[in-house]
Amino acid sequence: MEKVLFIPVADNEEDEKVCAKLEAALKDRDLFSFIQARDLTAFKTHFGEENSQGYVRPLHFRMMGELARQRQALPFLTETSTLYSGMRNQAVGHIELAQRHGFGFENTGLPLIMADGLTGDEELEVAIPGRIYQKVKIASLIVKAQALVMVSHFTGHLGSGFGAALKNMGMGCASRRGKLEQHSTAKPAVKKKQCTACGACLPWCPAQAITMQEAAARIDKALCIGCGECLTVCRFDAIGYNWSATYEQLQRKIVEHAWGVALAKKGKALYINFLTRISKDCDCMGGYRKIVPDIGVLIASDPVALDAASLDLVEARAGRPLTALAYDIPHRVQIDYAAEIGFGSPDYRLEEIP
Ligand code: SF4
Ligand code: SF4
Repeated sequence: MEKVLFIPVADNEEDEKVCAKLEAALKDRDLFSFIQARDLTAFKTHFGEENSQGYVRPLHFRMMGELARQRQALPFLTETSTLYSGMRNQAVGHIELAQRHGFGFENTGLPLIMADGLTGDEELEVAIPGRIYQKVKIASLIVKAQALVMVSHFTGHLGSGFGAALKNMGMGCASRRGKLEQHSTAKPAVKKKQCTACGACLPWCPAQAITMQEAAARIDKALCIGCGECLTVCRFDAIGYNWSATYEQLQRKIVEHAWGVALAKKGKALYINFLTRISKDCDCMGGYRKIVPDIGVLIASDPVALDAASLDLVEARAGRPLTALAYDIPHRVQIDYAAEIGFGSPDYRLEEIP
């Protein structure tokens, strides 16, 4: 049974206080002992889309970077490019946005190096004994770094339901081609009667699969890569998406990519989930509305146990099923599948740090 450490926080507790609690836990339990001198140590997180508010704040990375440096390691912040259009689909815009959100060197003391290069295509294949994949395409720096601290924000997601570490690893550490492979299961279609022909979805489509034909948009399924971006930008609910046929496969693909990350960093990784500022949508979406009071920070060396504990705590705090809080997507698929293929353990022992 995997141990998951739980640092409780009060709702809206100040970030400085949360950071001090996390620092105390990391020091008291010597949780960075896997980081050795000269280890290139990647701190992987999500810097948030424009107008997003939920992302884990920069001060935590300053503190953790300092702890890694005390071990004579070489820490850096890292992320990967998104698949969809916008500021974060290449390194230059992504770093500029990260700096606007406070992740500049002056605040974190950490250099920010994109894990998948300038345009998201720098990758290394990692062999896994998966059912869908025998090799997964992971951002090269994630594989090359000698140590990894995966800092994830627990949120909902319109395609994969609620989650944190596994999503941050599987989708968040995949190269552009790895992300494409995960998304390619789903192909949406325009509901003609609801489409107002506003054209808002056209520039967001990374595959130029949407054209305007007479009074409605049309999706060319041969070009569509299934990224779901049109679904997120349409304000008229005019994009139909067959969730039941896709969510399970998407989540399984995320899990197998996450397994690639875990195997590449076996014994050299720590996973930290922030159950604060929990929102219906992930940090890739602009805007933010908290749907559950803040809960705390969880730490484990098994990301499967960590996400299982996170789901249980959020559901208990919400007092109702997570499917009633956000998208009606079964959210245990990732945990169950990870256990089924031998990636990790859904059984955990929660140890609360007073
Ligand atoms: S954003 Fe929605 S309403 Fe506007 S053109 Fe696209 S599908 Fe139609
Ligand atoms: S049409 Fe396909 S590729 Fe284009 S935004 Fe929608 S899901 Fe993505």
